Amino acid sequence: MAVTCIRNAACIVAWDDARQRHAYLTCGDVTFDGDTLCCVGGHYAGAPDVSIDGSGLMVMPGLINLHSHPSTEPFYRGVREEHGVPAMYMSGLYERSLALQPDAEARTAGKRVAFCEMLLSGVTSVADLSGIDEGWIDIAAQSGLRVFLAPSYASARWHLDNGWALKYRWDEAAGRHGFEAALAVIEQAVAHPSGRLSGIVSPAQIDTCTPDLLRDSFAAAEARGLPLTVHCAQSVNEFLVMIDRHGKSPVQYAHDLGLLSPRTVLGHAMFIDEHSWVRWHTRSDLAALAVSGTSVAHCPSPFARYGQTLEDFGRYRRAGINIGIGTDVAPHNLIEEMRLGATLARVAAHDITTTNIAALFHAATAGGADALGRPDLGRLTPGAKADLVLVDLASPWMRPARDPLRSLIYTAADRAIQAVFVHGEKVMEHGRVLTMDHASALAEVAEGQERMLRDAPSRDWAGRSADEIAPLSLPMLRLSNE
Ligand SMILES: [Zn+2]
Repeated sequence: MAVTCIRNAACIVAWDDARQRHAYLTCGDVTFDGDTLCCVGGHYAGAPDVSIDGSGLMVMPGLINLHSHPSTEPFYRGVREEHGVPAMYMSGLYERSLALQPDAEARTAGKRVAFCEMLLSGVTSVADLSGIDEGWIDIAAQSGLRVFLAPSYASARWHLDNGWALKYRWDEAAGRHGFEAALAVIEQAVAHPSGRLSGIVSPAQIDTCTPDLLRDSFAAAEARGLPLTVHCAQSVNEFLVMIDRHGKSPVQYAHDLGLLSPRTVLGHAMFIDEHSWVRWHTRSDLAALAVSGTSVAHCPSPFARYGQTLEDFGRYRRAGINIGIGTDVAPHNLIEEMRLGATLARVAAHDITTTNIAALFHAATAGGADALGRPDLGRLTPGAKADLVLVDLASPWMRPARDPLRSLIYTAADRAIQAVFVHGEKVMEHGRVLTMDHASALAEVAEGQERMLRDAPSRDWAGRSADEIAPLSLPMLRLSNE
């Protein structure tokens, strides 16, 4: 296998194994043999097959997007950013996912666009929570990313017949069928010759799956040594439904079913019993997550747009909960999620000391890796996978680069990312994705969005147009002489 050496990197975000945290290392080499890192820091004495001049660069571990929906979210650009339903505690999730659905043909292009955005912004691993579409494995493999396919299934579908009450249409057989199909896809992913694909058992939501399906899903994940992810405590409506059905918070319900464990990732575990929007009488959710070793996939953007946030990132961490970061929505820019996550935590805590960028960066790298049961990801250390990002310290957005991570996260974001390697292969360079045709995928997404918007009245409970559901930010001006 080819040996690649990044010579004299100005800055390396290296893994300090003794303290289990990242640390800066200046002026050293980063070397990988095939898909695996062999030297981090110091001088590599061997003769590499490929040498890269690292002066002027920061080398950091690739980011891990722990929660995303590449099949659907690219279609909501310009649609969902300011869409929400006040009578559903601000969440637009139910109304939008029912009325605005990209078709199967479009969803394939959506994946390509989402994957391109991730590569452009330094993501090297992604949990892709999607329904099963033909060609998914091929697209994931072609992307060059490390993709954890999480085929979602459920025993019920959400349903609305007014603008406030969340209803369910149950079809337990469909849930079972989806579960079997998901396990088959996961098996193919795990066996894929690229070595970059894997799977996550993914019952879609805590409120849409029967207890039996949830328990069997957990057993299947355990038997295969795979993670399990489920949306849980993601809206006030869901919280109230679980209280109505079981007299328990969603986290308590998951706990009592035996779902909480170190292999479990809850998206988004925001509306826990003590969250200010629900104020349930117990105070046990945070401890239940911590004691069980359950991870949380924290996605700041979608909720912040509704006026909601986790309360708060720093508090969860101090309680001992492992957190990873996801994008959930577009843009698929994990650097911007880190920035927003740090800021929102302080706003929620009314305290600047509740968290810092080091904690958010840890979550977006090692935290996500630990949640996926992959200690060989999310850190630059010998023996870890060669998933890394080269950051241009000379970018105007990085300078002065006194503290390169702060420059990157608070200012530069994707604008300073020069190259991305996954599994030892270069997959993005100078703003261009090397594995996929971004432009053609964007064109297909635009066409798919038009069809999605056109079909809204036939899907919406009130028969409204897409423009009525999600008006444009500015009105269309009509000139009087037209
Ligand atoms: Zn989600």
